[in-house]
Amino acid sequence: MRLRNIPGARETIAESPWTVKEPAALKGHWNSLFEKPQPLHLEIGTGKGRFIMQLAAEHPEINYIGIEKYSSVLIRCLEKQDQLQLANLRFVRGDAELLTDYFAEGEISKIYLNFSDPWPKERHARRRLPSRTFLQKYDTVLAEGGTIEFKTDNRVLFDFAVEEVGESAFEISAVTYDLHHDPVMNEGNIMTEYEERFSAKGNAINKYILVRRKNLDQK
Ligand code: SAM
Repeated sequence: MRLRNIPGARETIAESPWTVKEPAALKGHWNSLFEKPQPLHLEIGTGKGRFIMQLAAEHPEINYIGIEKYSSVLIRCLEKQDQLQLANLRFVRGDAELLTDYFAEGEISKIYLNFSDPWPKERHARRRLPSRTFLQKYDTVLAEGGTIEFKTDNRVLFDFAVEEVGESAFEISAVTYDLHHDPVMNEGNIMTEYEERFSAKGNAINKYILVRRKNLDQK
């Protein structure tokens, strides 16, 4: 999602009390940002933020961080957060490429990827957020027992994502190719902006949940 350039967006983000200006400076200390030290959950590519805001409102016992690459998109999150003032939610305008610069080993408990950009050209496969390149980064920052939840209506991207798991430190603990008609996996589902748009067109939503293989082996 890349919206038209919004004049002043960068300045608004720089001045907002809800954004983290130097994420790498907080590496290993993210909980110092919040009122209470609690598990940290991350959404990467948070878009306009509806998903993470609803989650944060429903789960005050979790601290949430939304990472979004583009100022023109993130600014929409900040407009809503200015009204909601959710104490357990902060945003980073940043790139998931730098995840291991931002977070210490094991600092995150859960990662959400929602309707990630498909990067359809093969030469761009490494940029796909569920690729093995990114799964390695997620493995570094996730705590023991950490999980990844990924949703998309793009079946080609989803099939690629499922294949990539085989090359990673993760295992699929649950999967569906039609989330909204899967009563178990759909329980408590929060729709993202893209999910609402594409399911309204009749597209089925795919979802997997990953857990780290080494954690499974220890059971
Ligand atoms: N998650 C939202 C939803 O489901 O409605 C937005 C989906 S949109 C297709 C993907 C979002 O991920 C865009 O806002 C894009 O800017 C962001 N994004 C893509 N690559 C990213 C990266 N490497 N780091 C952070 N954000 C990224």
